[in-house]
Amino acid sequence: MRTAGQRSALENSYDDWAEYFRSAGEAQYRAGQICDWLWKRGVWDVESMTNLGLDMRENLSRDFDFSRPVIKQENRSPDGTKKFLIHMPQGSAVETALLRQGPRLTACLSTQVGCPVGCPFCATGAGGFERNLSAGEIASQLVVMEKHLGRAVQNVVMMGMGEPFLNTEATLDAIRVLNSPKMRGLGIRHITVSTAGIAPGIRELAESGLGVRLAVSLHAAADDLRSELVPCSSDYPLGELMSALRDYQRVTGDRITIEYAMFKGTNDSVEHARALVHRLHGIHAYINLIPANEFGGYARSSPESVLKFQSVLRSAGFETEIRTERGGEINASCGQLRRSSDMAGRGEIKKDSPRRFGASGNEPQTPRKDRGPAPVSAGRGNGRQGVKNHADGTRRRDSGRPGRSAGGRNIPSKEGRRGGKDRGR
Ligand code: SF4
Repeated sequence: MRTAGQRSALENSYDDWAEYFRSAGEAQYRAGQICDWLWKRGVWDVESMTNLGLDMRENLSRDFDFSRPVIKQENRSPDGTKKFLIHMPQGSAVETALLRQGPRLTACLSTQVGCPVGCPFCATGAGGFERNLSAGEIASQLVVMEKHLGRAVQNVVMMGMGEPFLNTEATLDAIRVLNSPKMRGLGIRHITVSTAGIAPGIRELAESGLGVRLAVSLHAAADDLRSELVPCSSDYPLGELMSALRDYQRVTGDRITIEYAMFKGTNDSVEHARALVHRLHGIHAYINLIPANEFGGYARSSPESVLKFQSVLRSAGFETEIRTERGGEINASCGQLRRSSDMAGRGEIKKDSPRRFGASGNEPQTPRKDRGPAPVSAGRGNGRQGVKNHADGTRRRDSGRPGRSAGGRNIPSKEGRRGGKDRGR
């Protein structure tokens, strides 16, 4: 617990530590020692930092709060995916997933508590938005996970709860913490930022010169369907998004990963695939096709549909891969673990219950397939735009006012999303 006058050790950069020790009349290398304890060894107990003198440890305990996030729950699926529920020192819980690809581990970190985007197929979106995470809260999810596992994680993707570019400043600072050789020291090409398509954030990432990889969750090649599947996209229509991606590629020269979650009868026809080819013309993209876990009335595409879809993309010269959305049995779709934990806390379900959301029918939602096929492309006003999952579990049309999300929570304005520093505090 932080006392008056204390700063959070979690939020100190290497330069902050160097300045602290310099002003205390100590040698600069002390900054490297403490960053090594915190970010490489995952030791946050000052008394255990035995290469620091007793007086120094007392001063550090006086001046800093060394609270860090704590893992409260761990679920594991048969495919090796793990999911952690992590409680933050200042309150709130987020989910972090760990994916295994052979000997390599990838951590899927959260950037916000909840998410204001409100994708109707996503448990996080259905739960609404609580607050932004700080840079330290984002980066330390990796460190506490590594300490818990007793081994290093090789890759990080900002693809847990939240939209990184609605919390851009903290996300970029967290990347600097993870990448700095003085702190976690993770290679920059081992870090990926995954966005729902916030165009200003994509441009800011390009200008930052950080050199991380970029993934964009597209899910549709037409604005009307995309604004149903990714509600924030009505602020950043596909024309603007594609322009940002071309600018990003001009600056960085990097290939962009396109994530395309596939839902039966919604976005998985051959015509949808042709529309995607047309939309991505001129962009060097690697396309991940993801037959998505069922949630919110959206059903998983059949293997035949996915293969036909992939064939169209390949014929047009795109590299593609069919990915399995893993961990469905452990609530690994984003937001489901936190949501089930909240419900357990309210006595609605038992902890570690196998009961799942959406697909198992415990949410009163109309199956997407019963609402007829979605158009491949069309003008606006098809009757579905603005239809969202709301916090009360119903699926209904939004008020129509931009800036509103599920349950009436505010989605930050287009301007407010830029930088978006710690709005919820
Ligand atoms: Fe937010 Fe991603 Fe879930 Fe959409 S899919 S609501 S962007 S966390």
